[in-house]
Amino acid sequence: MQLGRFARVDGPFLPTPLVEMPRLTELLGGPRLLIKRDDNTGLAFGGNKSRKLAFLVGDALQKGCDALITSGGPQSNHCRQTAAIGAMYGLRVVLVLRGEEPPLRQANLLLDTILGAEVVFVNTTAAEEVNAAVEREAQRLRREGGNPYVIALGGATTIGALGHADAMMEFVGQINEKRLSVDHIVLATGSGGTQGGLELGNQLLNTKIQVHGMMVSPRDPDVLRERMAGIVSAGVKMIIQEDIDPASIIGRINAYPDYAGPDYAVATPGCIEAIRIMARTEGLIVDPVYTGKAVDGMIDLIRRGEFGKDETVVFWHTGGSPGLFAYADHFQPTDAVG
Ligand SMILES: *Cc1c(COP(=O)(O)O)cnc(C)c1O
Repeated sequence: MQLGRFARVDGPFLPTPLVEMPRLTELLGGPRLLIKRDDNTGLAFGGNKSRKLAFLVGDALQKGCDALITSGGPQSNHCRQTAAIGAMYGLRVVLVLRGEEPPLRQANLLLDTILGAEVVFVNTTAAEEVNAAVEREAQRLRREGGNPYVIALGGATTIGALGHADAMMEFVGQINEKRLSVDHIVLATGSGGTQGGLELGNQLLNTKIQVHGMMVSPRDPDVLRERMAGIVSAGVKMIIQEDIDPASIIGRINAYPDYAGPDYAVATPGCIEAIRIMARTEGLIVDPVYTGKAVDGMIDLIRRGEFGKDETVVFWHTGGSPGLFAYADHFQPTDAVG
């Protein structure tokens, strides 16, 4: 295996299941639909960050670090999974969270607290100020004699992307075993680390699978696509020492801004509806920040006939379900659509 020489730790439960969604397939009357259950990676309710963290924590331990510092929103799934894997390896975990400290710790933030992470709030959304706070925390830990490992926002680095290159290898093994031919993968895309990693796997394996990233915040999709092409290029360099011009691959990287709504973490009506549809057809829980928006996008592409009836589409479930518990007000019975 090409990734065997990179340090990684155990933690995530792998491989994750790949299962059919027959009732959703029937409801939508389009392509055959399956789901890749990366929400089931373990690590305190699981999710896509677990795969990145396996390699990032491997790197941290190899470098002799004894603490992890990372950042995110108050309901960050990445921070929650970092808190969990840090606890597993006896590492101190410091989380720098954007915004104001809420009066009551709920959902992911509650889990961070239970997992023993130190939580620091910075009342800003400006990336430079968050990064400055992360750096302050790193200096504080060093002064206290520690050796912290800083993990970039969402773990979206080349090392983190190894986790999803590995995921693509796992996935291709699964579909070969099931004698399935998969045409499309749809997933939620934020920092682009996950999609970049899957595209890196695609590049290494030379598959024809098209990956469609549904953006979760209103940004310029071309900037994100460039970033993902950069991740693929850096990953190819690191793994097989080949140079690929990011400009030569950007054309096949798909990012859709249409389902993001007005802001990150603002649940759109389409997202709320998608959460109910998944729950009521397949008994599956998707979340209001990421995967609900991605399912909304997938359903829309199917309804518009973008995927053929003879094609197979896999929804890549990146997790996030604990976040739902911070959105209870969106799902009270009076709002129900029946
Ligand atoms: C972080 C996250 C994403 C986005 O992953 P990126 O690698 O940042 O693009 C998608 N879904 C969930 C549930 C997440 O927590």
